Amino acid sequence: MKKSAVIAVVSAAVVLAAFLVYDGVFAHESEIGFFAMDTYTSVKVWGKNSEAVCENIKNAVSVLDTEVLSRTAEGSLIYEINRNGHGELNEKTEKYFSAVLDVCRKSGGAFDITLGAVSDLWGFGNDPKVPSGEELKQTLSNSGYEKIGLTSGQISLNASGAVIDMGAVGKGIALDEAKIYLENSKAKKAVVSVGGSVLLFGGGEFTVGIRNPNGDSASCVANLHVGEGCVSTSGVYERNFEENGKIYHHILDPETGYPVDNGLVGVTIVSESGLLSDALSTACFVLGKEKGALLASEYSAVAIFIYENKTVCVASEYADMLELTDEGYTVEEF
Ligand code: AMP
Ligand code: MG
Repeated sequence: MKKSAVIAVVSAAVVLAAFLVYDGVFAHESEIGFFAMDTYTSVKVWGKNSEAVCENIKNAVSVLDTEVLSRTAEGSLIYEINRNGHGELNEKTEKYFSAVLDVCRKSGGAFDITLGAVSDLWGFGNDPKVPSGEELKQTLSNSGYEKIGLTSGQISLNASGAVIDMGAVGKGIALDEAKIYLENSKAKKAVVSVGGSVLLFGGGEFTVGIRNPNGDSASCVANLHVGEGCVSTSGVYERNFEENGKIYHHILDPETGYPVDNGLVGVTIVSESGLLSDALSTACFVLGKEKGALLASEYSAVAIFIYENKTVCVASEYADMLELTDEGYTVEEF
């Protein structure tokens, strides 16, 4: 080999080694926690510039909340639609609404983003009370996702009294926004958790604990072994209250306006999309196991159903993903 060629090879090796050292020195992990979407959110990122990536995700989720999805932040898109009966959409929000309405339709209305006024009657989280049957009937008659019109760049809500509430899907949309930042960053791996929805970003396997819906927030019934993707859980333990010995929770049956009472206490969904994992966890909870599992498979999502009687149901093809950690529960494959 000529002397000049040797010098070139050695130089390349030195540059590569320097790059690896640089990468090693500056690759680190950062974590941030904050309140958004009416819940606690945490972001953990591994890789170069992880601190900046955490900050960017925090900003993106907060902006999504206050400028788009919040029902109470004056000036947000949803606030304006609920107030004026219409709103302007950009490419991204149009895509979100189109996907959400698809779940409303495919679930046969079990998933319905126009139940805001019905939720308000129950006052979950603020001043909870059991509404009268008459109030529920009246308020439900104004609701229904069919009253939402979607045309290019425009959304309309064609019913006075209907209130759009993205509470069942917003946390998942936040994960999709976070994923966009991560894909455009040098992050190697990240875990973003928004309430009961988690984004797992980067290669390899992740283990996610499924909370015990019958127990406290620290106890789990099972571990879920998954690759990159999103995991969302809907459970009766969120936003509930007790009156005369009966627990009333926040997932409502759009047919009756009452909390769903079908023996389920939790539903967990795994999907590539945050929006779908979140929407489907609520939709499958309302639909129950048979119809819910069919809906999940239409979206190539994994669904796990947990019953009050401590049975954990999962489709046989996905049973390997599930590792029971609470001996009081049993797994049933379908
Ligand atoms: P999640 O925790 O994702 O299951 O979302 C539950 C939240 O979605 C509730 O707190 C309500 O704001 C809203 N919600 C309740 N019932 C429904 C339903 N049948 N379809 C869509 N959203 C609902
Ligand atoms: Mg949901």
